[in-house]
Amino acid sequence: MFEFINKNRGLTNTVFMLALDKKKKTERVIIGEAGAIKLRLERNISDVLYDKTRPLGRLLLDFEKDPDKEWQLNASYMADNFAGLTPTKNVESRALKPYIGFLEQKYMSGEPTAMFAAVKTWEIYWQHFKGKDGSEKFLNRVGKLYRPFFGLREHNLNLWQLSSANVMSAVLFTEESQIELWQPLKKRNARRGECVVTSSSFIPIIFYYLERFEEWGLQLKKCKICGTGFLAESRHYELCSNKCRKVTAVAAKQQYEEKIEGDKVVAAYENHYQYWYNRGRRLKRNNAPDEEIAEFTKAFNKFRKGAIKRKAEVKSGDLSFMDFSTWLFEQQEIVDGLVKHGR
Ligand SMILES: [Zn+2]
Repeated sequence: MFEFINKNRGLTNTVFMLALDKKKKTERVIIGEAGAIKLRLERNISDVLYDKTRPLGRLLLDFEKDPDKEWQLNASYMADNFAGLTPTKNVESRALKPYIGFLEQKYMSGEPTAMFAAVKTWEIYWQHFKGKDGSEKFLNRVGKLYRPFFGLREHNLNLWQLSSANVMSAVLFTEESQIELWQPLKKRNARRGECVVTSSSFIPIIFYYLERFEEWGLQLKKCKICGTGFLAESRHYELCSNKCRKVTAVAAKQQYEEKIEGDKVVAAYENHYQYWYNRGRRLKRNNAPDEEIAEFTKAFNKFRKGAIKRKAEVKSGDLSFMDFSTWLFEQQEIVDGLVKHGR
């Protein structure tokens, strides 16, 4: 547990390490002193602040988000304390308390990007506290650290929506394009043991991550059903989980059933229409009297109007298919009554 205590922590340099495993589909993040991390990797000893192996993509999906720039605001309050303060423990402690509270809360969130930023803010604060132009230097450095929290460009982009291309187009400072590559000796397969390390900016870590994804044919996507970000193994994948796949399957089945129902209604209408039409033709062919034909035509028109109206009602759910069908057969009795004498 890191303690945000009021003393210069000396020449500490906390770093953020990332190792991706393509085969196991995992990411490992370690936060701690560079030396301690190396020992941990090689001999699994030594204390670090954070060491977790999670499913691939988690880091980018859960990346700290700060659309309201609270981090920057907190840092600027901290920077205000540079001036006019004698660095005696008590004064610092009282003046800084609320801002330390913010960092502590971020650290306790357990989200590694927020944890690292909190620790690093504290470290940078003390590095510049007594120095010349301390507050400016402090704000400048933490600003770069917080940059991806707000979005790499002016707009607040969700990180997993970023393609490598638009990350690359962002304006970068030197520390944002540098990354340290570690290859612990005991690993025979260098690529599998590869770790990347940063101490001042998350941006090179993000680049590295997105580049590996591109190389491995993976991408982060937003689920079409629930909107959650997820790791897609193919660009054709649109859904995050079996739960969402089930939702889609149910919807597709319902759509199919509605279509079948619709087809049934159309078919029933067409059959009955044909029945009427044939009766009309037979009347004419058998030279039925004009008034009989006129009566038929009137009834046929009435049938057509009524049938079209009811067809629409079945579609909107106001009438059941059964009732529609019953009505059609009732009409059939009418036409049978009109076309008498075996015509
Ligand atoms: Zn989903």
